[in-house]
Amino acid sequence: MSSPQIVWFRRDLRLQDHPALCAAAARGPVIPVYVLDDERAGNRKPGGASRWWLHHSLESLGKSLGRHRSKLILLRGDCVAGLARLAEETGAETVHAIQHYEPWWKDAEEELTGHCDLALYDGNYLMPPGSVTTGSGTPYKIFTPFYRALSRMMPPRDPLEEPALSLPDEWPHSDDLDEWGLLPTKPDWADGFRKQWDVGEIAAQDRLTDFVDRVSAYEDDRNFPSCEGTSRLSPHLHWGEISPAQIWKALEGKRGQGVQAFRSELIWRDFAQNILCQFPYYPEESYRQAYRDFPWRNPNRGHLIAGELEAWQMGRTGYPIIDAGMRQLWATGWMHNRVRMIVASFLTKHLLIDWRHGERWFWDTLVDADYASNGTNWQWVSGTGVDTQLFTRVMAPLLQSEKFSAADYIREWVPELAHLPDADIHDPPPSKWPEDYPERLIEHREGRERALSAYRDMKGET
Ligand code: FAD
Repeated sequence: MSSPQIVWFRRDLRLQDHPALCAAAARGPVIPVYVLDDERAGNRKPGGASRWWLHHSLESLGKSLGRHRSKLILLRGDCVAGLARLAEETGAETVHAIQHYEPWWKDAEEELTGHCDLALYDGNYLMPPGSVTTGSGTPYKIFTPFYRALSRMMPPRDPLEEPALSLPDEWPHSDDLDEWGLLPTKPDWADGFRKQWDVGEIAAQDRLTDFVDRVSAYEDDRNFPSCEGTSRLSPHLHWGEISPAQIWKALEGKRGQGVQAFRSELIWRDFAQNILCQFPYYPEESYRQAYRDFPWRNPNRGHLIAGELEAWQMGRTGYPIIDAGMRQLWATGWMHNRVRMIVASFLTKHLLIDWRHGERWFWDTLVDADYASNGTNWQWVSGTGVDTQLFTRVMAPLLQSEKFSAADYIREWVPELAHLPDADIHDPPPSKWPEDYPERLIEHREGRERALSAYRDMKGET
């Protein structure tokens, strides 16, 4: 009888197209394990929305393993110690895992190799992060050349079938998922999440099937928050319930601008990971030195921003599109991409608040909160990052709302304004401003001027 093989699941909560699982299954009986290691990530513990998703995703993975008469072993505590102990206890030959690139996972992988045989596999990206380089072997910092280089390497390898699993003679002890307390109880704020999301690998496949029929309209519809124009696959991708190779494969044979545009977004996801490989702490501070000393409005400098930050977080800025987006985020754990850009621009430019406050709020509240994608996008909107996006590009929320026909989106999320006609809802006139809708935190022109003046100060211009 061959030795048992441990499969260490992290953000790869699927059975199909899972190279680590396939390799383990080919070698012996499989012990699937998830370790909840809250301390490992330091101050990057998953936020409340992520924990909600994780609970349901683990539940779903456990059920899928049950179809093989297998089960998911749940351990809590230091993952290196836990896996090393488990390997010893079960006589497992090897721990198999899909490679992860967040710095705390890289450290754990390195530490674990000192304790047992660890086999790492690629599988969560179109190309292994760090592998797309220029002719001289250096990684890319700008999206367009990265996009061109990665496109030349496409398609990705074919997705792998779900393997047959043989079972160990004995099962080790497992925690009870319900006792991990990942779900909110007092209060239970997840009602909107339950209405919005089906979690797990099967749900991810269903969402993909539904989207494949709509992909031809993606190019036109994706910027309009009132319509279901995007895939909403982001949490499934983040948690690895589906792989980008599976998505690419499902689009095979589809032609046109919609598919092209959608694939390019998937490549953005690889690009963000490629940035994290080069700068492991990219989401922690501005990449550009000048912005580390930028005159953000900051309590340390005597600015009272707490009320404004909270108004932004709770969707009470007096800008309908921003309030709609922030309330959608709070209620469902997700926000439309166009609106993410608008709210991020507003926080960092109009309110002149350091992007890291926004990044943190997204980290706590998004079901797709992703260390690489969140950090890269916040720095991109703020103009503080590796690419050429400028701080001086200040998005105009009222014009954006009109241009991208956000009236129905606002009606859905800002009931105080639901009675207003399309002509008024983006920018309600004073005579129709509802009493229960907050005043604007700052007028657009004033916010824009203040941001540009801070920029000139940083540059030493008068
Ligand atoms: P689709 O339009 O259907 O795109 C398909 C997939 O491509 C997405 O599921 C996602 O995995 C990927 N993708 C799309 N746009 C981007 C992008 N700009 N950068 C990286 N990957 C992308 N995305 C996250 O997954 N996690 C985050 O924490 C995150 N934080 C963001 C913060 C800000 C300030 C901004 C502006 C964007 C952020 N994004 C993040 C990117 C993007 O908003 C979401 O991926 C997208 O809205 C998810 O919806 P969708 O699945 O319907 O996307």
